[in-house]
Amino acid sequence: MNTSNFSQTNTLAFDFAENKSALLTAIIESSEDAIISKTLQGIITSWNPAAIKMFGFSEAEAVGKHISLIIPSDRLKEEDFIIGQVFQGNRIDHFETLRQHRDGSAVPISLSISPVRNKQGKIIGASKIARDISEQQKLAEKQGMLAAIVDSSDDTILSKTLDGIITSWNKAAEHMFGYPEAEAKGKHITLIIPKERLDEETFIIREIRKGNKVDHFQTERMAKDGTLIPISLSVSPILDRDGNVVGASKIARDISVQQADAAEKERLYEQVKALNTRKAEFIGLASHELKTPLTSINGYLQILHKSVKEEKSQQFLMKSQKQVKNLIRLVNDLLDITKIEEGKLNFIMDKFNIRDVVADGIELISIANNKHRINLHSDLNELVIDGDYYRVEQVVINLLTNAVRYAPDSHEIEVYLERSAEEVKVGVRDFGMGIPADKLENIFSRFYRVDDNSSVSGLGIGLYLSHQIITGHKGRIWVESDFGTGSIFWFSLPLTHRL
Ligand code: ADP
Repeated sequence: MNTSNFSQTNTLAFDFAENKSALLTAIIESSEDAIISKTLQGIITSWNPAAIKMFGFSEAEAVGKHISLIIPSDRLKEEDFIIGQVFQGNRIDHFETLRQHRDGSAVPISLSISPVRNKQGKIIGASKIARDISEQQKLAEKQGMLAAIVDSSDDTILSKTLDGIITSWNKAAEHMFGYPEAEAKGKHITLIIPKERLDEETFIIREIRKGNKVDHFQTERMAKDGTLIPISLSVSPILDRDGNVVGASKIARDISVQQADAAEKERLYEQVKALNTRKAEFIGLASHELKTPLTSINGYLQILHKSVKEEKSQQFLMKSQKQVKNLIRLVNDLLDITKIEEGKLNFIMDKFNIRDVVADGIELISIANNKHRINLHSDLNELVIDGDYYRVEQVVINLLTNAVRYAPDSHEIEVYLERSAEEVKVGVRDFGMGIPADKLENIFSRFYRVDDNSSVSGLGIGLYLSHQIITGHKGRIWVESDFGTGSIFWFSLPLTHRL
């Protein structure tokens, strides 16, 4: 066995000696590096395929030419230096420089040059091996750019191994935690983790090992002086070329300002809420206190109305009664608002014909004002719904009152009563000032008034109450309006299906 091995090695040595020149040629031909030889005068004597590719000249074009063929004019002096070194029998290793492609573009290369000797040992030329380092340079540039970004970032950026050893630490990290880079690098990450939060690190590393990211994890870390800093942490796995997780990069943002803002907002919100409750309590109390004397004034006025005979006094009494009624209506609306806020706006449910409600409402408003004619358009008679008669009437009266108030120069109001299979629809159309389109969505909000209509006084309560009442009956209320032309307010309520 030994013998056979010996003879095999011998044969190989023999083959190698025989074919040395052919082997060298094959290596030169297949090399990815440009391999060029030249005389001491700089005349190119050989030029391999990689040189053709790198510099764009064919072998025929390059051999016999001076090497300055590929040297940019501002670097010609380098050649003198190189030849000087070769003359002295010195090698030049990994000399980074630029050469020129046939098309004029610069080729960044790393050059290694050796003297070539003849059999007598005399230096007769030089061989050059040139490696294209443009990719390497691009990579270095990219790395430099990334390093600059990391360095100038306002966020803390650091990296660590899977065992938690800190491997990089940017300027923002120095600033946030008070440890200079030299002090932090090489230490365990627990340097900045408060004791009671050590478990978090175990969780984060577990996720990272699985290749997962941890995003916007809100926590606290500890600075050198012991201060706790609220941060939002994003951690990503660092992968090697083969895709294995070898560490983690962490970006930490100081969120103390946001937290302080959120706390301040919360405080203000609570304050506004408390003030709102007090305001509602006040409105409730004041309306209640107002209602008692108003009710007795109303009663006395009614008694007086019966006993006073003189015509002028009768007229004054009627006007006073009308004003007192307006006041009572207002106070009742305010009381209703308080009830809604306390969740106490209850409905006394009954079955009734909504046509009666509409007709009653029209009659009531017509008696109180003779300027507008109110026309009911409907040939439907029996429209039974389930609801609170008094509250639905309140809505009808409210819409009719608004139609009168916000259309002072017109004389007609149209009322529509329609039905579909499931519901009944009531519409009140006026030909008054209308509502601008951008105000329509707020019209049913509490205390909301349209500035453009401020010539008419009011508190912005009626439509809010109407909305609460109708939605409380599982119905809908809405408005269509043309500013300057008029409006139509609609509400719909589910019909009762009688068996
Ligand atoms: P107010 O007592 O102020 O009339 P409402 O809640 O009834 O309170 O109405 C809210 C606002 O909607 C009013 O201030 C007015 O600007 C507007 N508005 C209500 N009805 C009409 C209407 N028919 N035409 C024009 N604007 C109206």
